[in-house]
Amino acid sequence: CGIVGYIGYREAYPIVIKGLERLEYRGYDSAGVALYDGEEVHICKTKGKVSDLKEKVEGAVAITGALGLGHTRWATHGVPNDVNSHPHQSNSGDIVIIHNGIIENYASIKQELTKRGYVFHSDTDTEVLANLIEEVMKIEGVKLGKAVQIALKEVVGAYAIAVFDKKKPDEIVVARLGSPLAIGIGKDEYFIGSDASPFIEYTSNAIYLEDEEMAIIRIGREVRVRSINDDEQIDINIQNLKISLEQIE
Ligand code: GLU
Repeated sequence: CGIVGYIGYREAYPIVIKGLERLEYRGYDSAGVALYDGEEVHICKTKGKVSDLKEKVEGAVAITGALGLGHTRWATHGVPNDVNSHPHQSNSGDIVIIHNGIIENYASIKQELTKRGYVFHSDTDTEVLANLIEEVMKIEGVKLGKAVQIALKEVVGAYAIAVFDKKKPDEIVVARLGSPLAIGIGKDEYFIGSDASPFIEYTSNAIYLEDEEMAIIRIGREVRVRSINDDEQIDINIQNLKISLEQIE
């Protein structure tokens, strides 16, 4: 299973799809992408291989947007099918998320959200997290970064996530606990990967998140890393990557 992301000035799709191919070695049963061009979120996902996804995207979705997320899924909750594949969206459609890992207490959160009127389309634990983030934003009146933090404090489990809010086309929020997550730092652009292989030809500078850390990645400013458990800002530690493209391909 794997996670890829891009935010910047280029077309995200080619970067994201190539990144998913490089992460295929991690194993998966489904794949999907979300592309955001600042107006519409285009989501395409399928059970099967990244090559199946490519075929489906290129026939269906408007392949455009300078913000993109890509996911390969290894199903834990809900059978491998198109609907359970990631990315998932909240009920309003504003919150878009990809997730590797497990939300162990998803059933009780889902029950509570259902009582509050949320409707679920998939059998995944991940869709619960998308709606929990949306509910926190609504109830607490906070922005995406804070909402992700509050939501993750309620969650028991393991995750690497990447999420964006349709109202904020210049930002992706990521977090990790138990699943790897790397952020590639470019000039006016950022990359996300389960490892650095998706972005190795674009930058050799990367931040590897530690467990219980989250990062707010916004165009036009430095990445902000903080603890999920408190509001402590963590000094970013940019590593110089020593892997080359030849080692990957
Ligand atoms: N638990 C999530 C699901 O079943 C994510 C699985 C994964 O790690 O890919 O959809």
